[in-house]
Amino acid sequence: MERLECHVKEYAWGKLGRESEVARLFAAGHKNFKLGCTTPYAELWMGTHPDGPARLQTCSTKLSSHIAKSQSASYLSNNNVKENIHLPFIMKIMSIRTTLSLQVHPTKEQAAILHARDPLHYPDRNHKPELAYALTRFELLCGFRPANEILQNLEEFPSLCSLLGEKHCLKLKTAILALEKCQKLDKDSSQHKKSRIALATCFRHMMDMARDYPEKVEDLTENLMTSLDDGVRGCLQEETVAVIRKMSVDFPGDVGIFSPLLLNHMILEPGECCYYAAEELHAYLSGECVECVGCSNNTIRAAMTPKFIDRDALCEVLNYRMTSPEEYLVPPRRLEQFPSVEEYSPDGCKDFQLHKITVTLENCEEAVLPVLECASIMVLVKGCGTVEEECFASSSASCNELSSIEDKARGVSRGDIIYIPPGRRLRFSKCLQNIEAYRTFSYEIGPDHDSRIVVVPSPEPASERPQFEVADSESGIFEVESEMDGFL
Ligand SMILES: [Zn+2]
Repeated sequence: MERLECHVKEYAWGKLGRESEVARLFAAGHKNFKLGCTTPYAELWMGTHPDGPARLQTCSTKLSSHIAKSQSASYLSNNNVKENIHLPFIMKIMSIRTTLSLQVHPTKEQAAILHARDPLHYPDRNHKPELAYALTRFELLCGFRPANEILQNLEEFPSLCSLLGEKHCLKLKTAILALEKCQKLDKDSSQHKKSRIALATCFRHMMDMARDYPEKVEDLTENLMTSLDDGVRGCLQEETVAVIRKMSVDFPGDVGIFSPLLLNHMILEPGECCYYAAEELHAYLSGECVECVGCSNNTIRAAMTPKFIDRDALCEVLNYRMTSPEEYLVPPRRLEQFPSVEEYSPDGCKDFQLHKITVTLENCEEAVLPVLECASIMVLVKGCGTVEEECFASSSASCNELSSIEDKARGVSRGDIIYIPPGRRLRFSKCLQNIEAYRTFSYEIGPDHDSRIVVVPSPEPASERPQFEVADSESGIFEVESEMDGFL
């Protein structure tokens, strides 16, 4: 195992100074870190992505090149001659003060098309599934509400109908009512398809209004706020009304203020976890979480951002599925032989899995972690103790590597971030203070960033859609289109 130095991202939506768990945790693990009182500390990145690559604490080597040079390379790549081998995930800690943009991520197929069409805004060909594990109360908007809730909001908020287009709304209402009469239909029935098409038409109208008639949209947001002040609620809970009010202050006149009327408002309590793959419209609202994401930067934005909004791509990519928020929750699974580990493994997700590790003074003797035949990264968010490392690899090559490590037992404490090569067994041999840690892993092969082409805008754009030049990836110009929400 190797201790890592990682990156903090200072995006404007992050919590400020010591308010931010990202800052506090980073300070705990990086003794020389000087915390700024008014600096927004948004994300701590733990992975090999070129926009925030982890380095080994002992020698400052990038983790990606350490992996490429180590015996572990054979586990993680089909090709050992690479200079960098990347992990397929980024694990993050996030501290959110203000709403992030309303957005969606494409599937792999959609991403390839978008990349070919517009490499500036879609620098990767990969998809970007996302998982959020709530460290504190954590709020987000995720996926379209169940049809009956959307219907209720259409009926009670005339401003919403004006925004979606009166005649389109009528069709959507008819489709939803027909759907309600035949509840037992499967999701691929023609009635479901009709309702999704009707919703897509409404949503397209909403996006067109935002582009062509921003003043009208501004008026409609004012009408919406008046309705809420008058006590109209539709299907909304008071917490959701509070979110809309906050959005109207943070993004006055923005079409995104209507999004909580159409999308599920999820409030995760600490310890709850949700996951969504491509095609789901979502926005993080507030709180702190451990996030696992696929190694991609393709984000298509709809609203609440000064950055590039691609309405056409957005409308193409959304799945317009109307479903309950429970469908996004990921329940923990206890691992029978490892009482200190809970696994969060979303259905159909190969890009990452998450282990929550809890070690107490009482269960320390049983605190053995499973041997994974893949690389993983672990972060301690609470406590301190000692970890011992043993080689359990099926490959003797990886074991030889370990035999050269003299010190197999290490003190660990809050803020430590550790790379665990494949085939290693970790055991917490001492627990001085109850430990809580998160470990992300994946059996997939990571993307090839060495051949990634980053396109940067020319200094003086000639038009609204500027001309671009291609920069090679070694020139270090990665700040343009990376984790794209970061520039808010
Ligand atoms: Zn996202």
